[in-house]
Amino acid sequence: MQHAHDLLRQVFGFDAFRPGQQEIVEAVTGGQNVLAIMPTGGGKSLCFQLPALVREGVTVVISPLIALMRDQVRGLREAGVGAGALTSGNTPEENDAVMDALHRGEIKLLYMAPERLASLGTERLLRNVGTSLIAVDEAHCVSQWGHDFRPDYLRIGELRQALNVPLAAFTATADAETQGEIVQKLFGGVQPTSFLRGFDRPNIHLAFAAKENPRNQILSYAAARRGRSGIVYCGTRAKTEGLSKALRDEGHLSCHYHGGMDPDDRRDVERRFQQEDGLIVVATVAFGMGIDKPDIRWVAHADLPKSIEAYYQEIGRAGRDGAPAETLTLFGPDDIRLRRNQIDEGLAPPERRAADHARLNSLLGLAEAVTCRRQSLLTYFGETSGPCGNCDLCDQPPETFDGTEAVRKALSAILRTGEYFGSGHLIDILTGNATDKVRGRGHDGLPTFGVGKEFDRRGWQAVFRQMMGHDLVRPDPERHGALRMTDPAIPILKGEQSITLRRDTISVSSRRPAIKM
Ligand code: ADP
Ligand code: ZN
Repeated sequence: MQHAHDLLRQVFGFDAFRPGQQEIVEAVTGGQNVLAIMPTGGGKSLCFQLPALVREGVTVVISPLIALMRDQVRGLREAGVGAGALTSGNTPEENDAVMDALHRGEIKLLYMAPERLASLGTERLLRNVGTSLIAVDEAHCVSQWGHDFRPDYLRIGELRQALNVPLAAFTATADAETQGEIVQKLFGGVQPTSFLRGFDRPNIHLAFAAKENPRNQILSYAAARRGRSGIVYCGTRAKTEGLSKALRDEGHLSCHYHGGMDPDDRRDVERRFQQEDGLIVVATVAFGMGIDKPDIRWVAHADLPKSIEAYYQEIGRAGRDGAPAETLTLFGPDDIRLRRNQIDEGLAPPERRAADHARLNSLLGLAEAVTCRRQSLLTYFGETSGPCGNCDLCDQPPETFDGTEAVRKALSAILRTGEYFGSGHLIDILTGNATDKVRGRGHDGLPTFGVGKEFDRRGWQAVFRQMMGHDLVRPDPERHGALRMTDPAIPILKGEQSITLRRDTISVSSRRPAIKM
């Protein structure tokens, strides 16, 4: 599957599979008949698009939604993938262009509206161009009892038989009756490989904590779980070695793992982890793909992961046996800055960068959440649920306060100093700390000087971190550390919108008193 991961990154620009995607991609790529039920927004298109690139020949995608087909074709073409659509919305010229490209072998994904299946010659066309897979979106449209019945969907089963190729059907409708109809009408009654698993992993406890003293936070987290197998994910290779040594110094069984290591040494760590009880592996994200250990009892992130998808995948390595498992993710302003810079400095086109920022925002939203984390996580993946009772916020609801005034003061300090300074200097201004730099710039004469005495330094740090988490301020990629205001902050600055902040930074490891704010 290394190849699939490379394509995921290079063609689609994603750093990890979403829940469920990888298994489906593997089955579809392997030529199995597949029925996959995924919630809307769960990411089903990738489950046929990626296999289409790996497999020989053409993948025909049948979908009733013309606008959606056009979007997908455009997106694929921008990513350099040969794609085209044959729909009633096409002009004759557009149809000719798609046909020409098909016959030249330049199309990997051919989107088709179901009406097209009724026209004579479609079957022959699909055979002639080397169709090797049929993907059916909104497969519940085959159900005569459902709201979305499309008579033309009934022809898909015949087409599958005539072409004798595998079929992958996708829907968000999970009721048993509809499933039965799909199996009857699309797969001729032969049970396909089915994926119905929800995304929730209820045995995994979720927790986040703001970084205070990250090394100590990880050490005390591990100390409370002594003797149980765990993984600590770090943002850099160098850190894995240092932290692993610190754990050994505390008497743990621990080793490090990263992509820069000798392949033999890496295999050795993988083997030990699989066989030994209670080993802690301190690793970069390179550790995990081949790991199939059911009884990993905990996963900690010493640094914030790249995206919410990466987070889910990494914590998901814990507790595969279904027994209780625990996770802790540390995050701080430096992580946010680092991740933003990585996105800004990457070579991706602007739309993709914007999407990456949005995905990072979702993870930060989860980090700064004030109600059940699992609810936020599942909502992101399209599933609904009630409060879980198995996350840090359900265990101990955080105290919140109306942070509008504090945020406005901070924004005002940023704007009055020309969006030119980092949080340290801004906090000096807000708390009325007349350092040399503050006096040198004349910032002790600003109206914002000393208006923030209600919080101490740590309190303001927490406010700035939460502002970054809510994407109200972003580090300026051109000026190291300088914070700039974003558009979503404007209504708060103008007093048109309020914002709720967390009063504390719950620190699982040290149980320090809450920040005074
Ligand atoms: P649906 O299941 O509703 O058809 P889509 O396939 O349109 O969902 O995907 C929903 C969104 O999820 C899209 O914006 C897509 O770019 C995004 N997405 C899909 N897979 C991933 C992934 N592995 N990582 C990040 N984002 C993803
Ligand atoms: Zn919860």
